[in-house]
Amino acid sequence: MYNQSEFGNLENYLLEKKLCKKTSCEQVLNTYIFTGAVEYKKHRFKKVSLFLINIFDEKALEIMSKMFFLFCVIISLITIVNILSNGYGDWFYITGIVFSVISLIISLFIQNVLEYYHDTFCKKCGKKLACEETGEPVMKETSSYGEYTLTVTRHWKCRYCGNVDIRESQENIFAEQGEMLPEVSLKNIECNKCSETGTLVEIKKPDIKEIGRQRLTRRYYKCTVCGHEEINESEEIINRRKHIG
Ligand SMILES: [Zn+2]
Ligand SMILES: [Zn+2]
Repeated sequence: MYNQSEFGNLENYLLEKKLCKKTSCEQVLNTYIFTGAVEYKKHRFKKVSLFLINIFDEKALEIMSKMFFLFCVIISLITIVNILSNGYGDWFYITGIVFSVISLIISLFIQNVLEYYHDTFCKKCGKKLACEETGEPVMKETSSYGEYTLTVTRHWKCRYCGNVDIRESQENIFAEQGEMLPEVSLKNIECNKCSETGTLVEIKKPDIKEIGRQRLTRRYYKCTVCGHEEINESEEIINRRKHIG
């Protein structure tokens, strides 16, 4: 069932790439599984989050976040209606825009606080601000011919009851299968094993993931002459403006 030579090549790939000491790759039939250690979750605005969570419960924070989002929508609508009907002067529009943006920022900020609330909440004993991350967080990527998925597994330990909660999620990491390169662009690539040029073909769609401002592309090649399989990873910094446009 397993192709031994492909297995060997994948190991070589990992040695050559020296990705991360703890990253491993295995191939089961037509599915590639990458497993690697990741860092502990970092929370922004930790002090303010602690302060707000101590005062408010989950429901109150959810209501506040929704309320500010609603403010943002209402103020924007009022501003747009007034722009269209030429009702008030420039000061009105500027005030409207400023307040709707502020409302949106506050709403998103409370969403961030809620994430901290959920991460540190112990489902077993029901205490808030109880869990801390422990153990080794792991990112697992599964890439088959039709699908590319990614999950991060973290362990959260309650400092009151000692319960360890294992949580899996994609953590807002964008992951998708990209498009294969046109054949022309592979014409000048040399096979690392038999040194023939122009014999590599892309065997499946590439994996693309975006972490922060980094966009990582992983492409799968195979030599049509010697059968050598290669996995190539490249990194680029995302230009946000390009995304919006
Ligand atoms: Zn607990
Ligand atoms: Zn070759």
